Amino acid sequence: MPIAFLEVDRIGKSYDATVYAVRDVDLSLERGEILCLLGPSGSGKTTLLRLIAGLEQPDRGTITFEGRDVTATPPHERGFGMMFQDFALFPHRNVGENVGFGLRMQGLAAGDIAGRVAEMLALVELDGLEAREISQLSGGEQQRVALARALAPGPRLLLLDEPLGALDRALRERLMLDLRTILKRVDMTAIYVTHDQTEAFAVGDRVAVMNAGEIVQIGTPQAIYERPATPFVARFLGFRNLISGMISDDGTVKTLIGYFLPEGPIPPVGEEVTLLIKPVMARVEVPPDLLPSDVNSINGVVDTVTFRGRFSQIWVLSRGERLLFDAPGDPRLHPGDEVRIPLLPDQLQIYESSLQ
Ligand code: ADP
Ligand code: MG
Repeated sequence: MPIAFLEVDRIGKSYDATVYAVRDVDLSLERGEILCLLGPSGSGKTTLLRLIAGLEQPDRGTITFEGRDVTATPPHERGFGMMFQDFALFPHRNVGENVGFGLRMQGLAAGDIAGRVAEMLALVELDGLEAREISQLSGGEQQRVALARALAPGPRLLLLDEPLGALDRALRERLMLDLRTILKRVDMTAIYVTHDQTEAFAVGDRVAVMNAGEIVQIGTPQAIYERPATPFVARFLGFRNLISGMISDDGTVKTLIGYFLPEGPIPPVGEEVTLLIKPVMARVEVPPDLLPSDVNSINGVVDTVTFRGRFSQIWVLSRGERLLFDAPGDPRLHPGDEVRIPLLPDQLQIYESSLQ
């Protein structure tokens, strides 16, 4: 079996006796891969990153890097680069001195440092700005300098903790793409922490979703979006339509708003489940005469319609449940319209009710 570039094996860390900040996490990373750790505040992302960096010691578990056990190796001997939100630039040193900081620590000759600094500034498209003061840079430029500083010593692995967290939305949108492009250009292996799903999907080759100290799902953005592993992941990705149900005698899922038959295996009769109804590209039909709802279709009344351009968001009330659908373009619907929404089996997914 090939040895993984980075292997995290059943790592656990608690700050006090009762709560685990990181609980039995397994993780393995290929060389050149960008993995995003995605989860709400307090889910253990920073702690996991700091454990990998060596800034925290685990209570149990091991970290192996290129086949070597580094669990007890001090941070500076691991050869990892870091870019943390609170890992600020030195405000009283200019751009060149900031980017060259790690290289001076490595004891490189002045000429080599200057060459490498210039190369890094070109990479982040700040060519020739060596002498500029940090205070004369915009927020976005400062983050580019911070990235250049982290990349300059040629780390084997780069660890980034919410690096764009302090920037406004528009700037973040642009920088997340630039960041991925730059990391790919130098073939950097990276772990990138964020609580923002858009950012994780834009930056990561794979995404690990964390909840309460555990990785609840790991995979490509497409795979995670396609099949959220738990109701928590579904909710965190912004899916709103989760309703409770029970497997009926004929194997369909019985809910307050009708009977449904999702794709895939069905739990035993009588089992309580949570049903996820995906909103994507729903066909919202105004029925000629209201038929009773049959399997995989919902009858309801339009509550609100928000036109978003390429699609519209429609809240539908059905027997007291409020459900959200995205319909392409302008569906020409109005509050109060009676509608019928036929669903395909792949728009439906069930979770055993023990899953949160
Ligand atoms: P995230 O980065 O996902 O927001 P953290 O790793 O910072 O999560 O925190 C995970 C859990 O550990 C939280 O419950 C947090 O309160 C706790 N925690 C984090 N750092 C410390 C610390 N230095 N001392 C005590 N508890 C901490
Ligand atoms: Mg954090």
